[in-house]
Amino acid sequence: MSAIDDLPPLSEVVKTHGLDARKALGQNFLFDLNLTARIARSAGPLAGHTVLEVGPGPGGLTRALLAAGAERVVAIERDPRCLPALAEIAARYPGRLEVIEGDALAIDMGALAGGPVRIVANLPYNVGTQLLIGWLSLDPWPPWWASMTLMFQKEVAERITAAAGDDAYGRLGVLAGWRSIATQMFDISPRAFVPPPKVTSTVVHFEPHPAPLPCRLGALEAVTAAAFGQRRKMLRQSLKALGVDPIALLAAVEIDPTARAETIPVAGFVALANAFDAATGRG
Ligand code: SAM
Repeated sequence: MSAIDDLPPLSEVVKTHGLDARKALGQNFLFDLNLTARIARSAGPLAGHTVLEVGPGPGGLTRALLAAGAERVVAIERDPRCLPALAEIAARYPGRLEVIEGDALAIDMGALAGGPVRIVANLPYNVGTQLLIGWLSLDPWPPWWASMTLMFQKEVAERITAAAGDDAYGRLGVLAGWRSIATQMFDISPRAFVPPPKVTSTVVHFEPHPAPLPCRLGALEAVTAAAFGQRRKMLRQSLKALGVDPIALLAAVEIDPTARAETIPVAGFVALANAFDAATGRG
């Protein structure tokens, strides 16, 4: 169906351009334009925004974003086979779609931004977490993106939105909780994709945290790597990996040395990061 525009249905686009899905590129395409419209709606108002899309593929989500009123879509696609299909969309929406052929991991996306940017993507699973960590690790903060609406494997979405005490809580949950407000929006069944992946997907929406608790990103990474590197161990043991006295560090921030990483909220890790910097003369 192609009710949102007068372009051909995606199944036909894929056939015409010989876009058989390649596993190495994480290609699982969405053909259902109702679903892509729902993802576009989850991003919030698009009028007046530039949307950065990673991995447009044959362009199902791209079409939804343009139909939903995005002023400009900048789409980065690694697979040159998709470019002719995307050129047809660009012709349907003159001056509003810019396609960049390349590897999203190697492109300085901040430099492409002008005005408020919403990142919206059905991410290739093999690079999705890496891209997310990059977008959450930008300095200075607030970042150049105004929101991110991204699809992940459900298990990854659980890790992103987990809080202290949740089974899925770990380094990703601390980083996402420190720098953003992340909300699971809805699940998508494997059946919605061509070809179907093995697991359910979840759309996650992120707003940048307006004022993350102050600490140095590198120090936060160091303490969470040590703490969750041995997540079953008590912090007095796991934090030895930092090379400073863990008992003194934990005493400085009034955290029980017998506690385990999974019970420490984001604020606790921020306090530990600042204590670590103080102990190593960086604070
Ligand atoms: N957005 C389309 C959709 O929803 O049907 C396709 C999504 S598919 C899961 C992921 C897309 O990302 C593919 O088109 C793939 O070629 C592209 N891709 C994979 N790795 C990439 C990378 N490093 N940089 C940019 N695009 C990439």
